[in-house]
Amino acid sequence: MAKKNSNSFDSLNPVTGEVVGKYPINNEKEVYAAVTLASDAAIRWSELGHKNRRKILLAYSRLILSEIDSLAEQVTLETGKPHSDAKLEITLAAHHVAWAARNAESVLRTAYRSPGALMANMSATVERSPLGVVGVIGPWNYPVFTPMGSIAYALAAGNTVVFKPSEYTPGVGIALAELFEHASGSSEYFQVVTGFGETGVALCRSGVKKVAFTGSTATAKKVAAICAESLTPLIAECGGKDPVIVARDADITRAADATVWSALSNAGQTCIGAERVYVDENIADIFTEKVIALAKTIHAGNPENANYGPATMPSQLKIIEAHIKDAVKRGGIPVVGGTQSVGDRFVQPVILLQVPEDSIALTDETFGPTLVINRVPDMETAIQLSNASRYGLGASIWSRRQGRAIASQLHCGMVAINSVISFAAVASIPFGGTKDSGYGRIHGPEGLLEFTYPRSVVRARFQLPLAITSFKRTAKVDKLVVALLKTLRGRLS
Ligand code: NDP
Repeated sequence: MAKKNSNSFDSLNPVTGEVVGKYPINNEKEVYAAVTLASDAAIRWSELGHKNRRKILLAYSRLILSEIDSLAEQVTLETGKPHSDAKLEITLAAHHVAWAARNAESVLRTAYRSPGALMANMSATVERSPLGVVGVIGPWNYPVFTPMGSIAYALAAGNTVVFKPSEYTPGVGIALAELFEHASGSSEYFQVVTGFGETGVALCRSGVKKVAFTGSTATAKKVAAICAESLTPLIAECGGKDPVIVARDADITRAADATVWSALSNAGQTCIGAERVYVDENIADIFTEKVIALAKTIHAGNPENANYGPATMPSQLKIIEAHIKDAVKRGGIPVVGGTQSVGDRFVQPVILLQVPEDSIALTDETFGPTLVINRVPDMETAIQLSNASRYGLGASIWSRRQGRAIASQLHCGMVAINSVISFAAVASIPFGGTKDSGYGRIHGPEGLLEFTYPRSVVRARFQLPLAITSFKRTAKVDKLVVALLKTLRGRLS
Protein backbone atom coordinates (compact mmCIF):
# COMPACT_ATOMS: atom_id res chain seq x y z
CA MET A 1 0.00 0.00 0.00
CA ALA A 2 1.12 3.59 -0.43
CA LYS A 3 0.39 6.90 1.33
CA LYS A 4 0.97 10.21 -0.47
CA ASN A 5 2.77 13.16 1.20
CA SER A 6 3.80 16.41 -0.54
CA ASN A 7 6.84 15.23 -2.48
CA SER A 8 7.34 11.80 -1.02
CA PHE A 9 5.19 8.79 -0.24
CA ASP A 10 5.13 6.05 2.35
CA SER A 11 5.22 2.44 1.38
CA LEU A 12 2.99 0.47 3.73
CA ASN A 13 2.89 -3.16 4.79
CA PRO A 14 -0.50 -4.40 3.51
CA VAL A 15 -0.76 -6.89 6.39
CA THR A 16 -0.41 -4.34 9.20
CA GLY A 17 -0.69 -0.94 7.54
CA GLU A 18 2.63 0.15 9.10
CA VAL A 19 5.07 2.34 7.19
CA VAL A 20 7.95 0.30 5.77
CA GLY A 21 9.67 2.95 3.67
CA LYS A 22 9.59 6.52 2.39
CA TYR A 23 10.33 7.30 -1.26
CA PRO A 24 10.42 10.43 -3.42
CA ILE A 25 7.62 11.24 -5.84
CA ASN A 26 9.91 11.88 -8.79
CA ASN A 27 8.64 14.74 -10.94
CA GLU A 28 9.01 15.24 -14.67
CA LYS A 29 12.34 17.09 -14.31
CA GLU A 30 13.83 14.28 -12.22
CA VAL A 31 12.57 11.59 -14.56
CA TYR A 32 13.99 13.41 -17.58
CA ALA A 33 17.34 13.81 -15.77
CA ALA A 34 17.45 10.06 -15.11
CA VAL A 35 16.72 9.34 -18.77
CA THR A 36 19.43 11.78 -19.92
CA LEU A 37 21.93 10.03 -17.66
CA ALA A 38 20.77 6.64 -18.96
CA SER A 39 21.06 7.89 -22.52
CA ASP A 40 24.74 8.77 -22.08
CA ALA A 41 25.31 5.50 -20.24
CA ALA A 42 23.66 3.60 -23.10
CA ILE A 43 26.63 4.39 -25.34
CA ARG A 44 29.07 2.94 -22.81
CA TRP A 45 26.84 -0.06 -22.06
CA SER A 46 26.45 -0.85 -25.74
CA GLU A 47 30.19 -0.47 -26.35
CA LEU A 48 30.93 -3.01 -23.61
CA GLY A 49 29.77 -5.67 -26.08
CA HIS A 50 27.97 -8.93 -25.50
CA LYS A 51 30.81 -10.69 -23.66
CA ASN A 52 31.24 -8.02 -20.99
CA ARG A 53 27.51 -7.50 -20.55
CA ARG A 54 27.09 -11.25 -20.20
CA LYS A 55 29.65 -11.30 -17.36
CA ILE A 56 27.90 -8.44 -15.56
CA LEU A 57 24.43 -9.90 -15.98
CA LEU A 58 25.57 -13.33 -14.80
CA ALA A 59 27.13 -11.68 -11.76
CA TYR A 60 23.81 -9.87 -11.24
CA SER A 61 21.90 -13.14 -11.40
CA ARG A 62 24.26 -14.68 -8.80
CA LEU A 63 23.95 -11.61 -6.59
CA ILE A 64 20.15 -11.75 -6.70
CA LEU A 65 20.36 -15.36 -5.52
CA SER A 66 22.94 -14.70 -2.81
CA GLU A 67 20.79 -11.82 -1.49
CA ILE A 68 17.55 -13.77 -1.88
CA ASP A 69 16.62 -13.65 1.82
CA SER A 70 16.77 -9.88 2.18
CA LEU A 71 15.15 -9.30 -1.20
CA ALA A 72 12.34 -11.73 -0.34
CA GLU A 73 11.93 -9.94 2.98
CA GLN A 74 11.40 -6.66 1.09
CA VAL A 75 8.87 -8.34 -1.25
CA THR A 76 6.97 -9.76 1.72
CA LEU A 77 6.98 -6.40 3.50
CA GLU A 78 5.50 -4.53 0.55
CA THR A 79 3.15 -7.17 -0.93
CA GLY A 80 2.26 -9.31 2.10
CA LYS A 81 3.00 -12.54 0.24
CA PRO A 82 4.57 -15.48 2.10
CA HIS A 83 8.37 -15.46 2.21
CA SER A 84 8.60 -18.80 0.36
CA ASP A 85 6.46 -17.45 -2.51
CA ALA A 86 8.70 -14.39 -2.68
CA LYS A 87 11.77 -16.63 -2.86
CA LEU A 88 10.28 -18.71 -5.67
CA GLU A 89 9.53 -15.55 -7.63
CA ILE A 90 13.07 -14.24 -7.13
CA THR A 91 14.64 -17.57 -8.15
CA LEU A 92 12.70 -17.53 -11.42
CA ALA A 93 13.70 -13.93 -12.07
CA ALA A 94 17.39 -14.78 -11.54
CA HIS A 95 16.96 -17.64 -14.02
CA HIS A 96 15.65 -15.22 -16.65
CA VAL A 97 18.54 -12.80 -16.05
CA ALA A 98 21.01 -15.64 -16.64
CA TRP A 99 19.17 -16.89 -19.74
CA ALA A 100 19.11 -13.43 -21.30
CA ALA A 101 22.80 -12.99 -20.47
CA ARG A 102 23.80 -16.30 -22.02
CA ASN A 103 21.69 -16.07 -25.16
CA ALA A 104 21.77 -12.41 -26.21
CA GLU A 105 24.86 -12.76 -28.38
CA SER A 106 23.62 -15.71 -30.41
CA VAL A 107 20.06 -14.41 -30.79
CA LEU A 108 21.19 -10.93 -31.80
CA ARG A 109 24.12 -11.81 -34.03
CA THR A 110 24.09 -10.47 -37.57
CA ALA A 111 21.95 -12.65 -39.83
CA TYR A 112 22.89 -13.37 -43.44
CA ARG A 113 19.98 -13.50 -45.91
CA SER A 114 19.72 -14.60 -49.51
CA PRO A 115 19.92 -11.51 -51.76
CA GLY A 116 17.90 -13.17 -54.58
CA ALA A 117 18.82 -13.73 -58.21
CA LEU A 118 18.53 -10.13 -59.37
CA MET A 119 20.74 -8.93 -56.50
CA ALA A 120 23.08 -11.92 -56.60
CA ASN A 121 26.11 -9.65 -56.43
CA MET A 122 25.03 -8.36 -53.00
CA SER A 123 25.63 -9.71 -49.56
CA ALA A 124 22.49 -9.05 -47.50
CA THR A 125 22.64 -8.86 -43.73
CA VAL A 126 20.42 -7.83 -40.85
CA GLU A 127 22.12 -6.32 -37.84
CA ARG A 128 20.42 -5.83 -34.49
CA SER A 129 20.98 -2.56 -32.65
CA PRO A 130 19.95 -1.73 -29.11
CA LEU A 131 17.30 0.99 -28.89
CA GLY A 132 19.02 3.17 -26.29
CA VAL A 133 17.06 3.78 -23.09
CA VAL A 134 14.09 1.55 -22.30
CA GLY A 135 11.46 2.73 -19.82
CA VAL A 136 10.00 -0.12 -17.75
CA ILE A 137 6.75 0.36 -15.82
CA GLY A 138 5.90 -2.50 -13.51
CA PRO A 139 3.09 -3.83 -11.34
CA TRP A 140 3.18 -4.84 -7.68
CA ASN A 141 1.89 -8.43 -7.80
CA TYR A 142 5.22 -10.02 -8.81
CA PRO A 143 7.47 -7.00 -8.24
CA VAL A 144 10.69 -8.89 -9.02
CA PHE A 145 9.73 -11.48 -11.61
CA THR A 146 7.46 -9.36 -13.80
CA PRO A 147 9.58 -6.25 -14.43
CA MET A 148 12.72 -8.39 -14.66
CA GLY A 149 11.21 -10.01 -17.77
CA SER A 150 11.72 -6.63 -19.44
CA ILE A 151 14.70 -5.24 -17.50
CA ALA A 152 17.03 -8.22 -17.97
CA TYR A 153 16.20 -8.70 -21.64
CA ALA A 154 16.54 -4.97 -22.39
CA LEU A 155 19.92 -4.81 -20.63
CA ALA A 156 21.18 -8.00 -22.29
CA ALA A 157 20.26 -6.55 -25.69
CA GLY A 158 22.51 -3.54 -24.95
CA ASN A 159 20.02 -0.96 -23.66
CA THR A 160 20.01 0.95 -20.41
CA VAL A 161 16.86 0.97 -18.29
CA VAL A 162 14.87 3.48 -16.24
CA PHE A 163 12.36 1.57 -14.14
CA LYS A 164 9.22 2.93 -12.48
CA PRO A 165 8.00 0.31 -9.99
CA SER A 166 4.44 0.31 -8.72
CA GLU A 167 3.71 2.76 -5.91
CA TYR A 168 3.02 -0.33 -3.76
CA THR A 169 6.48 -1.85 -4.24
CA PRO A 170 9.03 0.97 -4.63
CA GLY A 171 11.46 -0.60 -2.15
CA VAL A 172 11.70 -3.78 -4.21
CA GLY A 173 12.45 -1.73 -7.34
CA ILE A 174 15.22 0.18 -5.58
CA ALA A 175 16.72 -3.02 -4.17
CA LEU A 176 16.87 -4.52 -7.70
CA ALA A 177 18.72 -1.46 -9.03
CA GLU A 178 21.13 -1.41 -6.07
CA LEU A 179 22.08 -5.03 -6.72
CA PHE A 180 22.72 -4.20 -10.36
CA GLU A 181 24.94 -1.30 -9.31
CA HIS A 182 26.98 -3.77 -7.25
CA ALA A 183 27.27 -6.15 -10.17
CA SER A 184 28.10 -3.53 -12.82
CA GLY A 185 29.96 -0.87 -10.84
CA SER A 186 27.65 1.85 -12.19
CA SER A 187 24.39 3.32 -11.03
CA GLU A 188 23.55 4.66 -14.49
CA TYR A 189 22.79 1.54 -16.52
CA PHE A 190 19.73 0.60 -14.49
CA GLN A 191 18.01 3.43 -12.60
CA VAL A 192 14.77 3.59 -10.67
CA VAL A 193 12.32 6.49 -10.45
CA THR A 194 9.52 6.29 -7.88
CA GLY A 195 6.11 7.83 -7.54
CA PHE A 196 2.57 7.43 -8.81
CA GLY A 197 0.92 7.41 -12.22
CA GLU A 198 2.31 10.89 -13.07
CA THR A 199 5.85 9.60 -12.71
CA GLY A 200 4.94 6.85 -15.18
CA VAL A 201 3.48 9.45 -17.55
CA ALA A 202 6.72 11.46 -17.34
CA LEU A 203 8.72 8.33 -18.17
CA CYS A 204 6.56 7.72 -21.26
CA ARG A 205 7.16 11.33 -22.39
CA SER A 206 10.86 11.43 -21.48
CA GLY A 207 12.23 10.37 -24.84
CA VAL A 208 12.86 6.71 -23.91
CA LYS A 209 13.11 4.65 -27.05
CA LYS A 210 10.58 2.04 -25.93
CA VAL A 211 8.23 1.55 -23.01
CA ALA A 212 7.75 -1.92 -21.55
CA PHE A 213 4.57 -1.70 -19.51
CA THR A 214 3.04 -4.37 -17.30
CA GLY A 215 -0.22 -3.63 -15.57
CA SER A 216 -3.93 -3.38 -16.16
CA THR A 217 -5.51 -3.04 -19.60
CA ALA A 218 -7.10 0.29 -18.60
CA THR A 219 -3.73 1.82 -17.71
CA ALA A 220 -2.11 0.28 -20.79
CA LYS A 221 -4.56 2.21 -22.97
CA LYS A 222 -3.58 5.48 -21.26
CA VAL A 223 0.11 4.62 -21.65
CA ALA A 224 -0.41 3.74 -25.33
CA ALA A 225 -2.09 7.12 -25.93
CA ILE A 226 0.85 8.97 -24.34
CA CYS A 227 3.40 6.90 -26.26
CA ALA A 228 1.49 7.64 -29.49
CA GLU A 229 2.25 11.38 -29.09
CA SER A 230 5.91 10.68 -29.81
CA LEU A 231 5.57 7.37 -31.70
CA THR A 232 7.36 5.68 -28.81
CA PRO A 233 6.91 1.94 -29.28
CA LEU A 234 5.27 0.01 -26.48
CA ILE A 235 5.12 -3.50 -25.11
CA ALA A 236 1.85 -3.92 -23.20
CA GLU A 237 1.64 -6.89 -20.83
CA CYS A 238 -1.86 -6.59 -19.41
CA GLY A 239 -4.45 -8.52 -17.49
CA GLY A 240 -6.03 -11.87 -18.21
CA LYS A 241 -9.02 -14.08 -17.55
CA ASP A 242 -7.21 -17.33 -17.96
CA PRO A 243 -9.32 -20.44 -18.55
CA VAL A 244 -8.53 -23.96 -17.41
CA ILE A 245 -9.94 -26.66 -19.69
CA VAL A 246 -10.38 -30.06 -18.09
CA ALA A 247 -11.08 -32.87 -20.56
CA ARG A 248 -12.67 -36.22 -19.85
CA ASP A 249 -9.30 -37.96 -20.10
CA ALA A 250 -7.58 -35.63 -17.61
CA ASP A 251 -5.61 -36.68 -14.54
CA ILE A 252 -8.35 -35.24 -12.34
CA THR A 253 -6.44 -35.23 -9.06
CA ARG A 254 -3.50 -33.33 -10.52
CA ALA A 255 -5.77 -31.01 -12.45
CA ALA A 256 -7.70 -30.09 -9.29
CA ASP A 257 -4.56 -29.63 -7.21
CA ALA A 258 -2.79 -27.40 -9.75
CA THR A 259 -5.91 -25.38 -10.55
CA VAL A 260 -6.56 -24.59 -6.89
CA TRP A 261 -2.97 -23.40 -6.52
CA SER A 262 -3.12 -21.38 -9.72
CA ALA A 263 -6.36 -19.65 -8.66
CA LEU A 264 -5.60 -18.99 -5.00
CA SER A 265 -1.85 -18.57 -4.58
CA ASN A 266 -0.62 -15.00 -4.22
CA ALA A 267 -4.21 -14.18 -3.17
CA GLY A 268 -5.28 -14.72 -6.79
CA GLN A 269 -3.19 -11.72 -7.86
CA THR A 270 -1.56 -13.49 -10.77
CA CYS A 271 -2.13 -12.25 -14.31
CA ILE A 272 -1.79 -15.84 -15.60
CA GLY A 273 -3.65 -17.43 -12.68
CA ALA A 274 -6.73 -19.62 -13.20
CA GLU A 275 -9.93 -17.55 -13.08
CA ARG A 276 -12.44 -19.87 -14.79
CA VAL A 277 -12.67 -23.60 -15.41
CA TYR A 278 -14.50 -25.41 -18.22
CA VAL A 279 -14.73 -29.03 -17.20
CA ASP A 280 -16.20 -31.90 -19.20
CA GLU A 281 -19.58 -32.74 -17.63
CA ASN A 282 -18.66 -36.43 -17.40
CA ILE A 283 -15.98 -35.73 -14.81
CA ALA A 284 -17.28 -32.40 -13.47
CA ASP A 285 -18.62 -33.82 -10.18
CA ILE A 286 -15.46 -35.56 -9.15
CA PHE A 287 -13.25 -32.67 -10.27
CA THR A 288 -15.40 -30.17 -8.35
CA GLU A 289 -15.40 -32.33 -5.22
CA LYS A 290 -11.62 -32.44 -5.25
CA VAL A 291 -11.34 -28.67 -5.78
CA ILE A 292 -13.77 -27.99 -2.91
CA ALA A 293 -11.98 -30.35 -0.55
CA LEU A 294 -8.64 -28.71 -1.29
CA ALA A 295 -9.87 -25.12 -1.23
CA LYS A 296 -11.34 -25.70 2.23
CA THR A 297 -7.83 -26.40 3.55
CA ILE A 298 -6.42 -23.12 2.22
CA HIS A 299 -6.62 -19.85 4.12
CA ALA A 300 -5.47 -16.27 3.85
CA GLY A 301 -3.70 -14.50 6.67
CA ASN A 302 -0.42 -13.24 7.99
CA PRO A 303 2.27 -14.47 5.55
CA GLU A 304 4.09 -16.31 8.36
CA ASN A 305 1.32 -18.81 8.94
CA ALA A 306 -1.09 -18.71 5.99
CA ASN A 307 -1.20 -20.06 2.44
CA TYR A 308 -1.41 -16.60 1.00
CA GLY A 309 -1.49 -13.00 2.18
CA PRO A 310 -3.73 -9.97 1.81
CA ALA A 311 -5.01 -8.16 -1.25
CA THR A 312 -1.98 -5.94 -1.79
CA MET A 313 -4.08 -3.18 -3.31
CA PRO A 314 -7.08 -2.44 -1.03
CA SER A 315 -9.17 -0.99 -3.88
CA GLN A 316 -9.25 -4.47 -5.43
CA LEU A 317 -11.39 -5.76 -2.52
CA LYS A 318 -14.47 -3.95 -3.84
CA ILE A 319 -13.97 -5.44 -7.32
CA ILE A 320 -13.62 -8.96 -5.95
CA GLU A 321 -16.75 -8.52 -3.84
CA ALA A 322 -18.71 -7.10 -6.80
CA HIS A 323 -17.74 -10.11 -8.95
CA ILE A 324 -18.88 -12.60 -6.31
CA LYS A 325 -22.14 -10.68 -5.75
CA ASP A 326 -22.89 -10.52 -9.47
CA ALA A 327 -22.16 -14.23 -9.95
CA VAL A 328 -24.52 -15.18 -7.09
CA LYS A 329 -27.23 -12.72 -8.18
CA ARG A 330 -27.26 -14.35 -11.60
CA GLY A 331 -27.61 -17.86 -10.23
CA GLY A 332 -24.01 -18.87 -9.57
CA ILE A 333 -23.61 -21.27 -6.64
CA PRO A 334 -20.96 -20.50 -4.01
CA VAL A 335 -19.64 -23.88 -2.79
CA VAL A 336 -16.66 -22.51 -0.88
CA GLY A 337 -16.94 -19.05 0.72
CA GLY A 338 -18.99 -16.21 -0.72
CA THR A 339 -19.26 -12.45 -0.33
CA GLN A 340 -18.56 -12.87 3.39
CA SER A 341 -15.07 -14.12 2.42
CA VAL A 342 -14.00 -10.58 1.51
CA GLY A 343 -12.57 -8.95 4.63
CA ASP A 344 -10.83 -5.63 5.34
CA ARG A 345 -7.50 -6.87 4.04
CA PHE A 346 -7.79 -10.58 3.37
CA VAL A 347 -10.03 -12.58 1.05
CA GLN A 348 -10.64 -16.23 1.94
CA PRO A 349 -11.02 -18.72 -0.97
CA VAL A 350 -14.21 -18.55 -3.01
CA ILE A 351 -15.33 -21.29 -5.42
CA LEU A 352 -18.42 -20.67 -7.55
CA LEU A 353 -20.30 -23.08 -9.80
CA GLN A 354 -22.55 -22.57 -12.81
CA VAL A 355 -21.97 -18.87 -13.24
CA PRO A 356 -23.57 -17.36 -16.36
CA GLU A 357 -20.99 -16.37 -18.94
CA ASP A 358 -22.16 -12.76 -19.03
CA SER A 359 -21.53 -12.22 -15.31
CA ILE A 360 -18.67 -9.79 -14.59
CA ALA A 361 -17.17 -12.68 -12.63
CA LEU A 362 -16.50 -14.23 -16.04
CA THR A 363 -16.10 -11.25 -18.34
CA ASP A 364 -13.69 -9.17 -16.21
CA GLU A 365 -10.41 -9.90 -14.48
CA THR A 366 -11.20 -10.58 -10.80
CA PHE A 367 -7.59 -10.64 -9.56
CA GLY A 368 -8.63 -12.28 -6.31
CA PRO A 369 -8.68 -15.79 -4.77
CA THR A 370 -11.87 -16.84 -6.56
CA LEU A 371 -12.55 -19.53 -9.12
CA VAL A 372 -15.58 -20.20 -11.31
CA ILE A 373 -16.20 -23.79 -12.41
CA ASN A 374 -18.60 -24.26 -15.31
CA ARG A 375 -19.35 -27.64 -16.86
CA VAL A 376 -19.39 -28.13 -20.63
CA PRO A 377 -20.79 -30.92 -22.86
CA ASP A 378 -17.66 -31.18 -25.01
CA MET A 379 -14.27 -29.68 -25.74
CA GLU A 380 -15.61 -27.60 -28.66
CA THR A 381 -17.76 -25.69 -26.17
CA ALA A 382 -14.81 -25.33 -23.78
CA ILE A 383 -12.70 -23.85 -26.59
CA GLN A 384 -15.47 -21.56 -27.76
CA LEU A 385 -16.13 -20.20 -24.24
CA SER A 386 -12.41 -19.80 -23.57
CA ASN A 387 -12.06 -17.75 -26.75
CA ALA A 388 -15.17 -15.65 -26.07
CA SER A 389 -13.22 -13.53 -23.57
CA ARG A 390 -11.86 -10.08 -24.44
CA TYR A 391 -8.63 -11.26 -22.82
CA GLY A 392 -6.12 -13.64 -24.37
CA LEU A 393 -3.18 -14.06 -22.00
CA GLY A 394 -2.68 -17.69 -20.93
CA ALA A 395 -4.59 -20.94 -20.61
CA SER A 396 -4.19 -24.36 -19.09
CA ILE A 397 -5.43 -27.69 -20.48
CA TRP A 398 -5.73 -30.98 -18.65
CA SER A 399 -5.98 -33.94 -21.00
CA ARG A 400 -3.94 -37.07 -21.66
CA ARG A 401 -4.42 -37.05 -25.44
CA GLN A 402 -6.09 -33.86 -26.67
CA GLY A 403 -3.80 -31.19 -25.21
CA ARG A 404 -2.04 -30.06 -28.38
CA ALA A 405 -5.17 -30.20 -30.52
CA ILE A 406 -7.04 -27.97 -28.05
CA ALA A 407 -4.06 -25.64 -27.52
CA SER A 408 -3.77 -24.81 -31.20
CA GLN A 409 -7.36 -23.53 -31.23
CA LEU A 410 -7.03 -21.13 -28.31
CA HIS A 411 -6.80 -17.38 -28.94
CA CYS A 412 -4.14 -16.58 -26.38
CA GLY A 413 -0.41 -16.05 -26.05
CA MET A 414 0.56 -19.01 -23.84
CA VAL A 415 -0.82 -22.45 -23.06
CA ALA A 416 0.27 -24.98 -20.40
CA ILE A 417 -0.79 -28.58 -21.04
CA ASN A 418 -1.09 -30.73 -17.90
CA SER A 419 0.49 -27.97 -15.84
CA VAL A 420 -0.23 -24.40 -14.82
CA ILE A 421 1.76 -21.18 -15.25
CA SER A 422 4.81 -23.25 -16.30
CA PHE A 423 5.39 -21.23 -19.49
CA ALA A 424 6.50 -18.28 -17.36
CA ALA A 425 9.38 -20.35 -15.98
CA VAL A 426 10.67 -21.50 -19.37
CA ALA A 427 13.07 -18.73 -20.30
CA SER A 428 13.45 -19.77 -23.94
CA ILE A 429 9.84 -19.06 -24.94
CA PRO A 430 8.07 -15.71 -25.32
CA PHE A 431 5.63 -14.38 -22.73
CA GLY A 432 2.70 -12.15 -23.64
CA GLY A 433 -0.88 -12.03 -24.79
CA THR A 434 -3.35 -11.05 -27.47
CA LYS A 435 -6.55 -8.97 -27.48
CA ASP A 436 -7.02 -6.94 -24.25
CA SER A 437 -4.10 -8.81 -22.70
CA GLY A 438 -1.76 -6.67 -24.75
CA TYR A 439 0.92 -6.98 -27.38
CA GLY A 440 4.64 -7.47 -27.69
CA ARG A 441 6.66 -10.17 -25.99
CA ILE A 442 9.13 -10.50 -23.15
CA HIS A 443 11.30 -13.60 -22.43
CA GLY A 444 13.03 -15.85 -24.95
CA PRO A 445 14.61 -14.79 -28.24
CA GLU A 446 11.48 -12.74 -29.03
CA GLY A 447 11.98 -10.86 -25.77
CA LEU A 448 15.54 -9.95 -26.74
CA LEU A 449 14.52 -8.93 -30.26
CA GLU A 450 11.83 -6.61 -28.80
CA PHE A 451 14.57 -4.42 -27.35
CA THR A 452 16.48 -3.97 -30.60
CA TYR A 453 15.74 -2.64 -34.04
CA PRO A 454 16.83 -4.34 -37.25
CA ARG A 455 19.21 -2.59 -39.60
CA SER A 456 19.41 -4.10 -43.07
CA VAL A 457 22.82 -3.74 -44.66
CA VAL A 458 23.51 -4.79 -48.25
CA ARG A 459 27.00 -4.67 -49.72
CA ALA A 460 27.96 -5.00 -53.38
CA ARG A 461 30.46 -7.85 -53.47
CA PHE A 462 31.18 -7.11 -57.13
CA GLN A 463 29.61 -4.84 -59.74
CA LEU A 464 27.27 -6.38 -62.35
CA PRO A 465 27.72 -5.48 -66.00
CA LEU A 466 24.00 -4.46 -65.98
CA ALA A 467 23.61 -0.93 -64.61
CA ILE A 468 20.15 -1.11 -63.03
CA THR A 469 20.26 1.78 -60.58
CA SER A 470 21.67 4.24 -63.06
CA PHE A 471 20.37 6.83 -65.53
CA LYS A 472 22.55 5.00 -68.03
CA ARG A 473 20.18 2.02 -67.88
CA THR A 474 19.17 1.00 -71.41
CA ALA A 475 16.00 -0.50 -72.88
CA LYS A 476 17.98 -3.72 -73.36
CA VAL A 477 18.64 -3.95 -69.62
CA ASP A 478 14.92 -3.38 -68.88
CA LYS A 479 14.03 -6.22 -71.26
CA LEU A 480 16.60 -8.48 -69.66
CA VAL A 481 15.24 -7.83 -66.17
CA VAL A 482 11.65 -8.57 -67.28
CA ALA A 483 12.80 -11.73 -69.08
CA LEU A 484 14.69 -12.86 -65.99
CA LEU A 485 11.63 -12.27 -63.82
CA LYS A 486 9.43 -14.23 -66.24
CA THR A 487 11.89 -17.14 -66.25
CA LEU A 488 11.97 -17.12 -62.48
CA ARG A 489 8.16 -16.73 -62.37
CA GLY A 490 8.36 -13.59 -60.30
CA ARG A 491 10.74 -15.14 -57.79
CA LEU A 492 13.79 -13.08 -57.20
CA SER A 493 15.17 -15.19 -54.43
P1 NDP B 1 -1.80 -0.70 -12.96
O1 NDP B 1 -2.22 -0.66 -14.36
O2 NDP B 1 -2.61 0.00 -11.94
O3 NDP B 1 -0.32 -0.06 -12.80
C1 NDP B 1 0.79 -0.56 -13.51
C2 NDP B 1 1.91 0.47 -13.45
O4 NDP B 1 1.56 1.60 -14.24
C3 NDP B 1 2.21 0.98 -12.07
O5 NDP B 1 3.59 1.18 -11.93
C4 NDP B 1 1.46 2.29 -12.05
O6 NDP B 1 1.96 3.21 -11.15
C5 NDP B 1 1.71 2.78 -13.45
N1 NDP B 1 0.75 3.78 -13.93
C6 NDP B 1 -0.49 4.07 -13.45
N2 NDP B 1 -1.08 5.04 -14.20
C7 NDP B 1 -0.18 5.36 -15.16
C8 NDP B 1 -0.20 6.27 -16.27
N3 NDP B 1 -1.27 7.04 -16.52
N4 NDP B 1 0.88 6.32 -17.07
C9 NDP B 1 1.95 5.55 -16.85
N5 NDP B 1 2.02 4.66 -15.82
C10 NDP B 1 0.98 4.57 -14.99
O7 NDP B 1 -1.60 -2.22 -12.63
P2 NDP B 1 -1.30 -2.91 -11.24
O8 NDP B 1 -0.02 -2.40 -10.67
O9 NDP B 1 -2.53 -2.84 -10.41
O10 NDP B 1 -1.05 -4.44 -11.67
C11 NDP B 1 -2.07 -5.36 -11.80
C12 NDP B 1 -2.39 -5.61 -13.25
O11 NDP B 1 -1.22 -6.04 -13.93
C13 NDP B 1 -3.40 -6.72 -13.44
O12 NDP B 1 -4.33 -6.37 -14.44
C14 NDP B 1 -2.54 -7.89 -13.94
O13 NDP B 1 -3.25 -8.83 -14.69
C15 NDP B 1 -1.50 -7.18 -14.73
N6 NDP B 1 -0.30 -7.99 -14.88
C16 NDP B 1 0.00 -8.45 -16.14
C17 NDP B 1 1.10 -9.25 -16.31
C18 NDP B 1 1.50 -9.71 -17.67
O14 NDP B 1 2.66 -10.02 -17.84
N7 NDP B 1 0.63 -9.75 -18.66
C19 NDP B 1 1.95 -9.66 -15.17
C20 NDP B 1 1.54 -9.11 -13.93
C21 NDP B 1 0.44 -8.30 -13.81
P3 NDP B 1 1.28 3.33 -9.68
O15 NDP B 1 1.23 1.94 -9.12
O16 NDP B 1 2.25 4.18 -8.99
O17 NDP B 1 -0.08 3.91 -9.90
